[in-house]
Amino acid sequence: MFPEPDRTPYDLNFRLFGFPVRVHPLFWLVAALLGASALDDGLAYLAVWVAVVFVSILVHELGHAVAFRRFGSDAHIVLWAFGGLAVPRSGVAGRGRRVLVALAGPAAGFVLCGLVYASDRVGDWGATNGPLVYELYFQLVFVNLYWGVFNLLPVFPLDGGQVSKELCEGRWRGRGLRVALQVSVGVAAAVAAYGVVCFLDSKSDRSFLGFLPWWFPRGSLWTALLFGMLAAQNYQLLQHLGRGYHYEAPDDRVSWEK
Ligand SMILES: [Zn+2]
Repeated sequence: MFPEPDRTPYDLNFRLFGFPVRVHPLFWLVAALLGASALDDGLAYLAVWVAVVFVSILVHELGHAVAFRRFGSDAHIVLWAFGGLAVPRSGVAGRGRRVLVALAGPAAGFVLCGLVYASDRVGDWGATNGPLVYELYFQLVFVNLYWGVFNLLPVFPLDGGQVSKELCEGRWRGRGLRVALQVSVGVAAAVAAYGVVCFLDSKSDRSFLGFLPWWFPRGSLWTALLFGMLAAQNYQLLQHLGRGYHYEAPDDRVSWEK
């Protein structure tokens, strides 16, 4: 759904575990804009935020890339305005394998979240080294936890949407893509509505979302905008399929699935 952006002279290029990594200049700009409120506390807090976003998205894409390599396709990683991409050299055959590739991104983030949390439990470094280090600890844990969960929502083109497509096509064959897109539109619209409700709640004197536990993620106008766009995009794809559209999903299961 998102084609890879063109190369620019301002790209940052390096290799990580043998995977070529390219960071498009807009990545830094969008990361900084997303964390602009950190500027209230000073430039150092914004720098910590951008570093956390960089590391977290890189680790997420590294999860996908390692899974691609495990299943025989080399891959490269691109970080750009809309987050990250792990681009395989060739497609992965087998529904089960493609599901694992999609899950590997969020899984890598959960592992990083767990490692940071565990290292703090053991070394007690998060809360004892000043507010800036605490910010680093807190953001590393929460960004990797919540972005992983968010990415698992069954909405295209998020990782959860890829999983949902594979599972629906496995279950309903020719009708599978249609079902997955319907789920995608429904979930995206619901999350967008939740974003609007959260925004209205934040503006009202008496909170009507007070019954939600503290750890439950709150939405915002950004959530509403992003998921509203995704709902519209998925709805369009659904229209393209047309009424009565039917195709036979190729049977490309690998031997251990059959
Ligand atoms: Zn992903």
